[in-house]
Amino acid sequence: MPSAKDIQSIISKFRVPSDGTVRLKQYDPEWSGDTKLPKAERKKIAKELLSEDVTALAGAQELLYAADSWSILIIFQAMDAAGKDGTIKHVMSGVNPQGVQVYSFKHPSAEELDHTFLWRCMKVLPERGRIGIFNRSYYEDVLIVKVHPELVAAQRIPDGRTGKSFWADRYDDINTFERHLTRNGTLILKFFLNVSKKEQARRFLDRINDPAKHWKFSDSDVAERGFWDDYMQAYEEALAATSTKWAPWYVIPADHKWVSRAMVAKIISTSIESLNLIYPQVSDEKRRQIAEAKTKLEKQPQ
Ligand code: ATP
Ligand code: MG
Repeated sequence: MPSAKDIQSIISKFRVPSDGTVRLKQYDPEWSGDTKLPKAERKKIAKELLSEDVTALAGAQELLYAADSWSILIIFQAMDAAGKDGTIKHVMSGVNPQGVQVYSFKHPSAEELDHTFLWRCMKVLPERGRIGIFNRSYYEDVLIVKVHPELVAAQRIPDGRTGKSFWADRYDDINTFERHLTRNGTLILKFFLNVSKKEQARRFLDRINDPAKHWKFSDSDVAERGFWDDYMQAYEEALAATSTKWAPWYVIPADHKWVSRAMVAKIISTSIESLNLIYPQVSDEKRRQIAEAKTKLEKQPQ
């Protein structure tokens, strides 16, 4: 098993620097650990790490809830079939469902379009003590909307011209919003599940060839694939502009699901641990009440 230090050094390689630069081509979607080890061994290690972190997360979430001061916001963005749903399902599999809320953001509704692009996400931010997961997010407004700028028209922004400054302003809004959240007790973690174009085709074909997976297949997924390069450019620009010290992006290798799941679980569990939360201290008055209740209960006939 890799040491905690090795793991931290691996994780830091996938954290996008906050200096405004990122080259997505430098991140390998197929990365799957130390290639001196056989694949079966790497897979086994990843699965063991995932299982450890699923347990660690369950404990961390209980403490988060008891401490009732921090909340955690986890954002997932990716191309279709990168494995967002499966990652959320596996990584959160040990956590008390009452402490987690998952929201999936789709094409905005008429009501949502009547507000600014942050509104629908603001409404469902996690409260203190909870983990909120955004399956897609306000980042769609600088990704799909940037790839298809005609979508801006539907937002009816006065003078909504989509020049360079329009997108720069959106990045700026996002950074300021996230700064506000972190200053007030929300830990933000952002994951881009980096699947390759080749692996996406393989997964789409899998869906097409397996009738049990037909419900997952959508024509529009294939249409969006046609804009792959535009998406990669939009991702690169968004990640460069919005990976900050207070809300970093991680580019997670996603061609092997066992890698992405283990890595995401590790980053979430170590990030919560680094908050150094403690259970609330019991006051002398409370201790006295507990002792009194114990005596009363013991005296009562059973
Ligand atoms: P899955 O396919 O795994 O069920 P999904 O997240 O791809 O999950 P879909 O219903 O297939 O969900 O797609 C949602 C679509 O909504 C995506 O194409 C996404 O880009 C789009 N979308 C999300 N937010 C916005 C937005 N603000 N403006 C325009 N389109 C958006
Ligand atoms: Mg989809």
